[in-house]
Amino acid sequence: MHTAEGFTLILTEIRLHRLSLPLREPFRAAYGETHVRHLFLVEAVTANGARGVAECVAMADPLYIEETTDTAWWAIRRYFAAEALAAEWTAPAEIRRWAARLDRYRGHRMAKAAVEMAVWDAWCAEHRVPLAHLLGVARTEVPAGISIGIQPDVDTLLRKVESALAAGYSRIKLKIQPGWDVEPIAAVRRHFGDVPLMADANSAYTRETADRLVALDDFALLMMEQPLGWDDLVDHAWLQRRLATPLCLDESIRSADDVRRAAELGACRVINLKPGRVGGFTASLAIHDLCRQLGLDLWCGGMYETGVGRLHNTILSGLPGFTLPGDTGPGTRYYAEDLVDPPVEFHRPGWLPVEPVCGLADRVVWRRVEQHRTQLEVIRRDDL
Ligand SMILES: [Mg+2]
Repeated sequence: MHTAEGFTLILTEIRLHRLSLPLREPFRAAYGETHVRHLFLVEAVTANGARGVAECVAMADPLYIEETTDTAWWAIRRYFAAEALAAEWTAPAEIRRWAARLDRYRGHRMAKAAVEMAVWDAWCAEHRVPLAHLLGVARTEVPAGISIGIQPDVDTLLRKVESALAAGYSRIKLKIQPGWDVEPIAAVRRHFGDVPLMADANSAYTRETADRLVALDDFALLMMEQPLGWDDLVDHAWLQRRLATPLCLDESIRSADDVRRAAELGACRVINLKPGRVGGFTASLAIHDLCRQLGLDLWCGGMYETGVGRLHNTILSGLPGFTLPGDTGPGTRYYAEDLVDPPVEFHRPGWLPVEPVCGLADRVVWRRVEQHRTQLEVIRRDDL
């Protein structure tokens, strides 16, 4: 039985585990090629010895957005670890209020998210309550889409699309950039008919090169993701007026306010939500609710996550406002070996189960974490 004290969540330590994980094969997007994923896990240890864990999705270099693993590590050490270690929570609503107060620190959302999600995860571990239950998730499975990087040639791309469809992925996303856009998309349409297909340009185009994008209207894409500036809304609204294909925003959306602004401007009809990019589960829930209210389609993107981030994304995607398949698939998509056991896998082709897991720390293979770890830092409540 819980004592009254048992309901108060207090953290005694925040541990940061920096890892370098080689990808099974390099992944190319408009911002560059990734060979090794440099990431870190945040482990939150409670006064009762339970542990929460979350993955920081920042990348080594500021090529996707401005945050990096180094800036996120610094911001957590400087601010967010102390904010978490100084707090006490007696209800999930208090975690949401605490997370909202972190907004007074401008930016650094990937850093905030890693700590905030570890706090939610610790709450689940301490109280033995599934995260899905806390977030209000009712679905028991979610469909998976796949993101296919820029390939050396069209034949290689077609082979990749074929094997993705055979594995059961229900939506194909192609990374594009100038010089790799109309031809690969036309080829996929020719070979695979009307499969749900979309393109992600990661800000590789400008208003001057937007004619290439208008040409893609011929291929009935489900959507086109973030073709213009990484921090822009106005130019995307300009493009959306010229385009039949719905635009989806990823990099430009950092908060529910950004979603509201984008909708008011007509900058997009679809939102790609990455909990790491927007500051965690609290901000994700606000964006989810707003998208439902505004009638915007919503799906969950990916950042080459290990099983830790994948499990969190899959659970979040079980909310009813996630109207389209996301980018989250099995944990072996990028890595030879997942960091969690059992690994994240389809329970039937193309579908990931929403698992009723009470915190992820027991699921993590800590021996593998140590094996790939390049740095460990422990921040203690007693040292504040
Ligand atoms: Mg994207």
